[in-house]
Amino acid sequence: MESGRIEIPFEECNKQGWIFALANRLGHDMKTYARRYMKSKFVAQGKDFDYSYYQIASPSYSLDLVDEAELHEEGAKTDGISNDEAYWIGFFYKYFTLALSLSNEQAWEKIPFDRMRAFYAEYGAKSKDEAGAELSALLRRELTAAKPRVVLLATGGTIAGSASSADAVTGYRAGALGVDELLAAVPELKNVAEVRGETICAIDSKDMTDEIWLRLAACAGELLASDDVDGVVIAHGTDTLEETAYFLHLTVKSDKPLVLTGAMRPATALSADGPMNLLEAVRVAACKEAAGKGVLVVMDGEIHSARDVMKTRTLGVGAFSSPTFGCLGTVDAGAPVFYRTTARRHTTRSEFDAAALPRVDILYGYAGDDGTLVDTCVRAGAKGIVYAGMGNGSIPADAEKALAKAAAGGIAVVRASRTMSGAVVSAESSYESAGFIDADTLSPQKARVLLRFALGKTSDREELRRIFREY
Ligand code: ASP
Repeated sequence: MESGRIEIPFEECNKQGWIFALANRLGHDMKTYARRYMKSKFVAQGKDFDYSYYQIASPSYSLDLVDEAELHEEGAKTDGISNDEAYWIGFFYKYFTLALSLSNEQAWEKIPFDRMRAFYAEYGAKSKDEAGAELSALLRRELTAAKPRVVLLATGGTIAGSASSADAVTGYRAGALGVDELLAAVPELKNVAEVRGETICAIDSKDMTDEIWLRLAACAGELLASDDVDGVVIAHGTDTLEETAYFLHLTVKSDKPLVLTGAMRPATALSADGPMNLLEAVRVAACKEAAGKGVLVVMDGEIHSARDVMKTRTLGVGAFSSPTFGCLGTVDAGAPVFYRTTARRHTTRSEFDAAALPRVDILYGYAGDDGTLVDTCVRAGAKGIVYAGMGNGSIPADAEKALAKAAAGGIAVVRASRTMSGAVVSAESSYESAGFIDADTLSPQKARVLLRFALGKTSDREELRRIFREY
């Protein structure tokens, strides 16, 4: 077999730009990872860093930037790995990583060099054309056979919205498109996963109800418990998406990926953002790295934790952010990449179950609030009140008096903040002695969701405080 660059017929892959984009991405990550990993291994054994291993991990780099003769010489010096072999092993590495949706780190663990060399032994002896054709066929077969299975649950919202003209981004009918139409609009989904759809409801998410939340939690939980499902995506209106996400984050008992997405522009709009959001949400739901990270929200190329995410803009794409902590990762160039996780309890580590939940109201603080509305909440039967105070959860004196009275009467009062970011932490001693609970970094609307679950279990102040520290 001659040395030098081997051209593998990638036409099939080229047609599916995502494979290529992902391979490029992996190539870049592999380079960094392999250098670190292999170098540490070699140094630990008292050897010099082996150049040829680096080439194996990063074929595109090696072939573009490295002198072929030099590479051949280096490769032959160690372990008898030739230039060609290095290229082929790199190719298999990419192929495995893609076909099995493995991260680079997992691939290094799971795919022993022996296995890749066995592949090389089989294909390396053939002519380039012959081996390339066989590999292409194998790649095609494997990629279509072993795709992750994802279920899309449709609930309505702008992502399924229909307007009378392509330039209309308001005044449309939310939830007008059925789940099959949503799927049909994104044929590229077929390259990522086997996706089927179910309809939960077709509402504007401002009208979300407890009944739908409970149904959604039961349905997602049941699907994720099935061996036939690898991940679930929920298409949701953006207005209450963060509350639904956090509700599910606290109740669905599964480590498999559960991802919410939506759209800011109706499906009929020019540059509708729904199709790309849906594709990226499915990519995340189909990716093994998304497991165990709690409920995720994918919007505009970013992956957010259900705990931290907020809709922070009324119109326009890019309306979601996690103001205090930032997103968990991105879906750049088609590949989900995670940079951090949330440390707070969720899903399988949550103590809460979806059940009938007590009434909790939110009051919004403002200069001059005399606390009149506190009584309205109490009369309406609220078991808890979240007060969206100023700054670090500050409450005007008259409103504080009314809330302290409610707390003395057994109502749980949580101090949150209207600032949209940062933590609410212990402040005035009067807040402590009145028994108010700090919302920590939860937004008022998330604090309300957690307080409802918490009050379903206990009304003990210290227990409630523990819950707000742990979730
Ligand atoms: N009103 C819509 C909803 O939340 C907004 C959207 O989906 O962007 O259902």
